[in-house]
Amino acid sequence: MPATSSPSVPSPRFWALVPAAGSGSRAGEGPPKQYRVLAGQPLVAHTLAAFAGVARLAGTLVVVAPGGAAALAGLLPDASFILADCGGASRAESVGNGLAALAAGGAADDDWVLVHDAARCLVTPAAIDALIDACAGDAVGGLLAQPVADTLKAADAQGRVAATVDRAGKWQAQTPQMFRLGLLRQALAHAGAQVTDEASAIEALGHRPRLVQGGAQNFKVTWPEDFALAEAVLAARARAAAQTV
Ligand code: C5P
Repeated sequence: MPATSSPSVPSPRFWALVPAAGSGSRAGEGPPKQYRVLAGQPLVAHTLAAFAGVARLAGTLVVVAPGGAAALAGLLPDASFILADCGGASRAESVGNGLAALAAGGAADDDWVLVHDAARCLVTPAAIDALIDACAGDAVGGLLAQPVADTLKAADAQGRVAATVDRAGKWQAQTPQMFRLGLLRQALAHAGAQVTDEASAIEALGHRPRLVQGGAQNFKVTWPEDFALAEAVLAARARAAAQTV
């Protein structure tokens, strides 16, 4: 990665960080979900293709499990993508290690980092650009998210409804989540390994990240039935693209 001290480097820069070091245990049997083939390519290749379509990114760091770099051989779209086999035991650790790798490679504390789950393979360049547009002038940063559509229930230990939770004003957090590198490193170090997204670590420092509406298609492939749904969306997009040429 180029050093930040060069006067020709615009500041701050935008980086993407894609944690792809999970085991995907909820997705059923087989290889980790990010390597399962979907519409002819490993799932993570679709994710990376979306980031390759965002011209403003200085680079994209993909974090894989230690010793797991071979699984991504040939899948990086171009030279701006960097592999780091520094995945940790939790998502937060994988992200923290990836942020350290970005900093070691020359990214500055005030550069923006967009952290995106490898498993959200339906994200689009337009959605990523919309997040950057909404947050680049923000004091804190923010995340793609979707207002909750269903009625929410809290469960008791017997699997019965303990309470109905008012859905008004509730959002489902998605990714990318975009924060300054230095603040995010500080937040994750403070929050510990168990936080499940970057925004909650930032919130724990007393900040209020901006919510930017994403879309229902930007779901995280998690359950066995999600693969067929994601594949259907990719097929529909391919058909629509073919009709426009
Ligand atoms: O497990 P979960 O669905 O929350 O994972 C979200 C993303 O974080 C996935 O892309 C997964 O590969 C990644 N992850 C990771 N390191 C871990 C656990 C999850 O990079 N130890």
